[in-house]
Amino acid sequence: MAIENVPDAREIEQTAIRLYFTAWEHVTDIIIPLLESHSGSIQLIDRTLTPTKDEMDFDGSIISVITEAEAEAVLKQYIARAQPDLHLCYALIQQSQEIALKARICAVSPFLLLLGSEVKSWAKPNGDFTDFRTLDAVDLIRVVNAVCSKPVSEQFATKFDIIRRGRNKIQHLGSFKDAIDPIAALDVLVEQWLELFPDRSWLQEFKGIIIDHHISTIVDDSDFGEVWSMLGNIERANLMLTDRQRRRLFGISDKARLFDCFYCRHESKWDDRGNDSRIATLEPNGNIVHCHLCLENTKVSRIRCFDPECGCDVIYAEGDYEGECAVCGEPQPLASEASA
Ligand SMILES: [Zn+2]
Ligand SMILES: [Zn+2]
Repeated sequence: MAIENVPDAREIEQTAIRLYFTAWEHVTDIIIPLLESHSGSIQLIDRTLTPTKDEMDFDGSIISVITEAEAEAVLKQYIARAQPDLHLCYALIQQSQEIALKARICAVSPFLLLLGSEVKSWAKPNGDFTDFRTLDAVDLIRVVNAVCSKPVSEQFATKFDIIRRGRNKIQHLGSFKDAIDPIAALDVLVEQWLELFPDRSWLQEFKGIIIDHHISTIVDDSDFGEVWSMLGNIERANLMLTDRQRRRLFGISDKARLFDCFYCRHESKWDDRGNDSRIATLEPNGNIVHCHLCLENTKVSRIRCFDPECGCDVIYAEGDYEGECAVCGEPQPLASEASA
């Protein structure tokens, strides 16, 4: 006899990663407007108040600046209204964690997933694996720690347990009273990646998810392809993550100077330079810029940019962008022009 549809560890892990990034995008959508309101790039409006004529622009848009207390009330309401989405995020996180742990067990042997199930309940000859009852979530960490070469950290095991036991406990991870804090959800996602997918590149996997997304089968991505999407995701991640989190997730040191990768710029048609989406760093030899997204290495010359306000001393020295500054993107005047 043979059992049909015996799971493949790599495929299961891929499912966990897909759920992970769906949760990531939900959390991002909640945190970014909070950060923007904090930095002043979006204006908070108290919709419960009726604006006076003076507080309205000629087109009816509200221009009044609200008080600190009013702003606090608005943000509280924002967090309250985000709760259903945050509960969804935690459901996705929980599922992603369970599936990732199952993938680890499956990599040792898929049949370990059947541990503890009643043999009487096993499917008939030529049965389908999906009809078998597999390990309960409550036992996953114990099994991983028994059969896998790398055990799950105590810290992760505690958090996994809190999340597994349900939503009522989730709120205790956050700082908002009686509500899930989106920043706590982000912290969970960062730690989860490092714990469960340590051999996978966050940037490459996120790009892969975008490439495989169903929308790419029907949308012409010549303008808004995966690199364009990823530069946006990097920009948002850079806004949300602490230096330490970014270093651990992207493998880029806190102090590293970040440069534009012109392959990615060109590919994405993203021309808004000077933003937070830079993801290329100088290699230790000082003569190569490595892009952590497209993985291209480009030779650079260490000449100071002609624009004194730029201050960069890294100029691309090969390819289509030869002679352009790796920060401001300005083509440098030729030596003969400069000396003239
Ligand atoms: Zn690149
Ligand atoms: Zn420059």
